[in-house]
Amino acid sequence: MTLQYDVTVGDLVELRKLHPCGSKIWRVTRIGADIGIKCQGCGRHVMLPRRGYFKGVKKVLEPGASQPAAADDEPR
Ligand SMILES: [Zn+2]
Repeated sequence: MTLQYDVTVGDLVELRKLHPCGSKIWRVTRIGADIGIKCQGCGRHVMLPRRGYFKGVKKVLEPGASQPAAADDEPR
């Protein structure tokens, strides 16, 4: 089953697949033709095509809609 929802920058999502660092939690950082997500375990950025993103998302832990946009690259 593919989860389709209104993706927003700042969304905190759980993916079906475990990242090599052991985390399944990602934050949406960029939305366009591709969707950029950042691993909350190791901080790695990944770009996914929309279809791949929606296929990979298991659930939305925290919608980012209430957060101000931009802030694409937060300082580490
Ligand atoms: Zn990671």
